[in-house]
Amino acid sequence: MRILVVDDSTTMRRIISNSLRAVGYEDIVEAGDGQQALQTLDGVNLLLTDWNMPNMDGLTLVKTVRSSAATAQLPIIMITSEGARDEVMEALAAGVNDYIVKPFTKETLGEKVKAIIR
Ligand SMILES: [Mg+2]
Repeated sequence: MRILVVDDSTTMRRIISNSLRAVGYEDIVEAGDGQQALQTLDGVNLLLTDWNMPNMDGLTLVKTVRSSAATAQLPIIMITSEGARDEVMEALAAGVNDYIVKPFTKETLGEKVKAIIR
């Protein structure tokens, strides 16, 4: 069960990764933007991605992942501060399975991850 955590903030990546470990997920890889993420997808079972990032943002990453046959079915959770309804609708339309709005608790993160990989 390998999880890829994508965020341009090293602090946020650490928070997300530590939260995942706290709820029992140990196999975690990280990327700092969408481009790096695309090069890190091999063997990944779940993608957790930020929205706002340099080089390639999360929405573009989601669309790119969904457009490739190899990753079209990969579960994706968007983690974003963009809590506005329009952004959430846009992320869902692009193919994310679920979303989490910052700030979040590790319990919320754990529940969403568990629900999506079941
Ligand atoms: Mg960001």
